[in-house]
Amino acid sequence: MTLTVTEEPGGRVFHAFAHDITNARRAAQFADVQAAIALGLAQAHSSTVAGHRVVEALGMKMGWSVVELWLVDDHRQVLTCAARHVEAGQQLGDFALNVLELGVALPGQICADGTGRWIRDLSTDRASLRSSAAARVGLRVAVGVPVSTGRQTLGALCVYGNRVEDPENTLLGLLGGLAAHVGQYLERRRAEELALELARTKNEFVAMVTHELRNPLAVISGAVTVFDDELEELTTEQQREYLRIIARSAQRLSVMAEDLLDLARLESGHLAVELIDTELCAIIGESVQANTAPAAGKQLTVTVRLPERLDLLADPNRLRQVADNLLTNAIKYTPAGGEITITAGRVDTGQIITWTVADTGIGIPPAEQPRLFRRFYRASTALDNRIPGTGLGLVITRAIVERHHGTITLGEHTGPGTTFVVRLPATAIPADSDSSPRVPGT
Ligand code: ADP
Repeated sequence: MTLTVTEEPGGRVFHAFAHDITNARRAAQFADVQAAIALGLAQAHSSTVAGHRVVEALGMKMGWSVVELWLVDDHRQVLTCAARHVEAGQQLGDFALNVLELGVALPGQICADGTGRWIRDLSTDRASLRSSAAARVGLRVAVGVPVSTGRQTLGALCVYGNRVEDPENTLLGLLGGLAAHVGQYLERRRAEELALELARTKNEFVAMVTHELRNPLAVISGAVTVFDDELEELTTEQQREYLRIIARSAQRLSVMAEDLLDLARLESGHLAVELIDTELCAIIGESVQANTAPAAGKQLTVTVRLPERLDLLADPNRLRQVADNLLTNAIKYTPAGGEITITAGRVDTGQIITWTVADTGIGIPPAEQPRLFRRFYRASTALDNRIPGTGLGLVITRAIVERHHGTITLGEHTGPGTTFVVRLPATAIPADSDSSPRVPGT
């Protein structure tokens, strides 16, 4: 307040001027926070540590009760809470979620459309379950801004407090500036971490390929030795059995070689698909036929529910690869006596073909599902059960489906097992056209 006194004929007059310094104070506080965050980011040796420094600086210096940094996963399916600051004494109750779907709750909405939001009174935001949970633990107001690189939204920075405040642009602007700083840092860090991961993946790749090559080679050379040493004593049927063992191992090696070649083509952008008039039911039928023996060997029941025809413009050899990969996985990851169900049909007034492959096998833990389509990724269930594999098939399968402008996802599944859902457009698509019809959501 500025106070001046003037001498007037009628006596002294006091003039008091009150200045609203809220914004100036906030700007000064922000400058302080900015400096703390810049220092924190410079000293952090990983993006996890950096995330914690950011939320802590914002919470402590600005007095927000809860500050959260949410990041979108690589496949843009879910958000995870990378760091959370909670003021001492503040309860979280069922507000304390760590995973959200894109579009859900304040962080999910910000990541879905890339714009900041202000919820003035959380208790009146009845549409959101998380707002109600926040209101129950005394949080009144929420502000969130996107953390982006300019090209892509990486996540959201959200603050929650217990005073109802009026939305004002300064706070959103200042918070946005901080979030941009964090976005740039995360992008730089991700690039560095990716380079490290790539180097590690290369080593893992060499180890995996060597291991996977050795197994069938050992089987072949063992069978050849027995065949050679005991040729005279072996009955014709026994000789045939050894030849079958050799053929199966050679087949495994050739599938691996094909997968590795496809991976190389995929990485150089040359995974070709040749679209012609194709009928999907026949392709699925041929794949089921070809896999009868391995399924029967494990006493698996394979049920196929298909309409008479499903015509589409596609590459039949590539779709056969998809059919084989999904079915051989279902066989491989389902213990003896289990069931496999394959269905296909048209949905959305015939525009889309949905094709599902479900099994009653070992399943994939929900927390690991977002990583499923990464190169070399193998779920813990597969590793724990010591089931051999390379983690290449699904990457190639997804690339093929996407080259047909379709999608492949994990479907809803009740009970033990896994369901893969492939959705393909049934209409004609020029191979390299961008204006072609797509499965919604691609
Ligand atoms: P591979 O089977 O050679 O390891 P894929 O790329 O085909 O490679 O599959 C990647 C991983 O996904 C597998 O290692 C396994 O953990 C998991 N997976 C794929 N299909 C299934 C399934 N039907 N049931 C359970 N896990 C599966």
